[in-house]
Amino acid sequence: MPLEVLQRAAADMSNWHDADGKPSGMGVMEMSHRGKAFGSIVQHAEVCLRRLLAVPEAFHILFMQGGGLAQNAIVPMNLCGPDSTKPALDFVLTGSWSQKSCQEAAKYGAPRIAASAQESGFHRIPEPGGWQLSPNARYVHICGNETIHGVEFHTLPDLRALGSDAPLVVDFSSHVASRPVDWSRVGLAFAGAQKNLGPAGLTLLVVRDDLLGAALDICPSAFNFKNIADNASLFNTPPTYGIYMAGLVFDWVEQQGGIAAIEARNIEKADLLYQAVDGSDLYFNPVEPTCRSRMNVPFFLRDPALESDFLQGAEQAGLLQLKGHKSVGGLRASIYNAMPLEGVQALVAFMRSFERTRA
Ligand SMILES: *Cc1c(COP(=O)(O)O)cnc(C)c1O
Repeated sequence: MPLEVLQRAAADMSNWHDADGKPSGMGVMEMSHRGKAFGSIVQHAEVCLRRLLAVPEAFHILFMQGGGLAQNAIVPMNLCGPDSTKPALDFVLTGSWSQKSCQEAAKYGAPRIAASAQESGFHRIPEPGGWQLSPNARYVHICGNETIHGVEFHTLPDLRALGSDAPLVVDFSSHVASRPVDWSRVGLAFAGAQKNLGPAGLTLLVVRDDLLGAALDICPSAFNFKNIADNASLFNTPPTYGIYMAGLVFDWVEQQGGIAAIEARNIEKADLLYQAVDGSDLYFNPVEPTCRSRMNVPFFLRDPALESDFLQGAEQAGLLQLKGHKSVGGLRASIYNAMPLEGVQALVAFMRSFERTRA
């Protein structure tokens, strides 16, 4: 979270002020989600996000509960159609998150693996020209940024050019709002909020209008995109505080200069870190340079025995949460939007000094 956002929320914790500075006499957590004050908060978040990410009018922006993983079930339940036969769903496997999505979808549809980078250890993105897309798939799922393997799509695939009419579903949980989105290539995108948008518990959905109304009969009403869209995210109580915080984060992104400025900063941060990794004899990153993530930078010590020393020294230097995900090991720096350039500079300085002491 950006520090300015936390400070702003702290100042309004027990008495929220509207845009004109007028106090409401209560904190956001105490508001009715159907009241005027909260109505203005949710509307602000939506308008601000639409402007920031240039979301076209043909898409609904929905705020939901359940996190990113829940969408692995909620998306197929909403897109598979009312038929009882399980329709074909295409998945491109680029790491742990797309694998999980594919597994969960089997409860509702018939997932097929259009392409997989598993044999490469998930160190690359399969060339879209070689994807085996099903002629009748209800959708094609990709994970825009694989948080664990550090692999990112820097260009979204153009499914029409690949001969498919299916909508593209993108899990953009871990790189949402870090870069612009080409909505002409997207049918639906979802994101758990906790990486770039705000506190856990909020899930963002951006869905093209023509995809609404195709839910399975078993789809819970509270998870039916059409219900949520028809009720402007207020079908039931949404994660109100998370929506409020996300609105503050969107304000902050605008103050930074918008998505283009945030992207430029993210590129600078990621380049600095990858250069430090590539330019050293101690560290390495196995991901193909063309698809390296700007948000999550996994790196490994050539001598894994040094890992615990590295983590201990880093912690002493105030550099926290650098342990890699347990499924791949090694180290990982997650440098989301709110991480300032100075944070990456401090990490790189520590990495260099650690390498010198081992030389
Ligand atoms: C973090 C993350 C999620 C969300 O997980 P939840 O814990 O269910 O919110 C989903 N997809 C990706 C790519 C993620 O990084």
